[in-house]
Amino acid sequence: MNLSVHDDVLARARAWLARPKKMLIDGRWVEAEAGGAFDTIDPADGSTLCAVPRGTAADIERAVAAARKAFDGAWRKVTPAARAAMMWKLAELIDRDRAELAILETLDNGKPLRVSLGMDVPFAAERLRYNAGWATKIHGETPPVSLPGEWLGYTMREPVGVVGHIVAWNAPLASAVGKLAPSLAAGCTMVLKPAEQTPLTALRLGELIDEAGFPPGVVNIVTGYGEEAGAALAAHGDVDKVSFTGSTEIGKIIVRAAAGNLKRLTLELGGKSPVIVMPDADLDKAIPGVANGIFFNTGQVCTAGSRLFAHAAIFDDLMKGVAARARGLKVGAGLDPSTEIGPLVSATQQRRVEGYIRSGLDEGAEVLAAGQAPLDGPGFFVAPTILGRTHREMAVRREEIFGPVLCAVSFDDATLDELAAEANDTTYGLAASVFTSHLGAAHKLASRIRAGTVKINGGGLDPSLPAGGYKQSGWGREYGREGVEIYTELKSVLVSL
Ligand code: ADP
Repeated sequence: MNLSVHDDVLARARAWLARPKKMLIDGRWVEAEAGGAFDTIDPADGSTLCAVPRGTAADIERAVAAARKAFDGAWRKVTPAARAAMMWKLAELIDRDRAELAILETLDNGKPLRVSLGMDVPFAAERLRYNAGWATKIHGETPPVSLPGEWLGYTMREPVGVVGHIVAWNAPLASAVGKLAPSLAAGCTMVLKPAEQTPLTALRLGELIDEAGFPPGVVNIVTGYGEEAGAALAAHGDVDKVSFTGSTEIGKIIVRAAAGNLKRLTLELGGKSPVIVMPDADLDKAIPGVANGIFFNTGQVCTAGSRLFAHAAIFDDLMKGVAARARGLKVGAGLDPSTEIGPLVSATQQRRVEGYIRSGLDEGAEVLAAGQAPLDGPGFFVAPTILGRTHREMAVRREEIFGPVLCAVSFDDATLDELAAEANDTTYGLAASVFTSHLGAAHKLASRIRAGTVKINGGGLDPSLPAGGYKQSGWGREYGREGVEIYTELKSVLVSL
């Protein structure tokens, strides 16, 4: 794929930024009812990109009412095949406008253009296509019934209803579409609340949703702050389900908010994922695997491999390779084609990550390696950092940092059970990685590690593989068949013949 963008696309994106921003409610572009707006910032230089409406509870009210009306009306009459066709159309429109979407994502989030154009935007289109296939394949069963007499028993999978999607800022478009796609396939209607740090691609997506021909009210998009628009959506009595991606702390707030009407919840929360490198690992795979696992997206990935356990026999060679990558990474503004990792999303995140590094050093950790970053400018940069001499009580080892900070530990002669216990010594359980050439050790560790995804010798995200968390990393699974079924209710019908 050609990852360069032309000046005319950049000009189009800038022209789009200059136009007044509105929210999509009931198929119309509207301002916030209270009239408020807030700025969205370019993390590469701290400048204001544009203002977007500050949606509040009143706008959530309108959006939920529109979604309910569409669910009970127009959307219900659309056949599964027609839903799938609209989803394919939307995927094609995303492909058509991919360069503009990628530029907006890069400006708003900070991620390198090569990532937004090469991964985030195509992932979004792919998630639509994958899930479009499910629209015609969600069905019940006819289990045999053993009651006396003659019976027909069958099950039906029905759409759960009106869904609230509350998404994070680390992969704004891919994660929003990752929620819209399966819920559209299931036949739901929805209100999307993008993160306040990164609302732009959701609004641009709204234009494409319009163009793809979805009936008004099927997808509503409300921009706003978490504690205003997000909280109103999570607590709304006519929302049947909330699907949330974000921190464990906010996830617990959502659980409490959802209790009012016992709405269904899917929660994709934080992680502190272990990476185990065995003495027989292929270092040609392990070195890039460990480095990408923590530095990709500037470490702002919920599955980031932030706790490394490497056998003493290969520790020095492994660290030499990973440190060379940390030092060699080009950190800069996302629009610069040579940039490999961008800034953090906000000044708040920058302060948070720097605070963690300081706290680790204050508690006795040492910097094994640190990369370069343009730290004296206005952007929210943090240098890729590898910490040694960390122990399990330190906050850097226990808590999710959501930045490019790796805690590296070596081990000697540990059994697989001991290694798994180290890996599991966390309140999280989102993902884990193992590097080994021993097939038996790989599968034994895969079964002993309590995490929703275990990657052996590398790996990424595939829409067919369910992803989600054990323990405090979340509830439920996204992607795959399970990722569609979370947007359904299961009904049993029993017929006396
Ligand atoms: P992070 O800690 O990574 O910034 P958050 O968990 O704070 O992520 O935010 C993820 C999403 O949750 C965002 O869309 C944010 O606006 C939303 N959010 C934040 N606070 C609340 C809340 N109290 N109720 C509902 N949504 C919220």
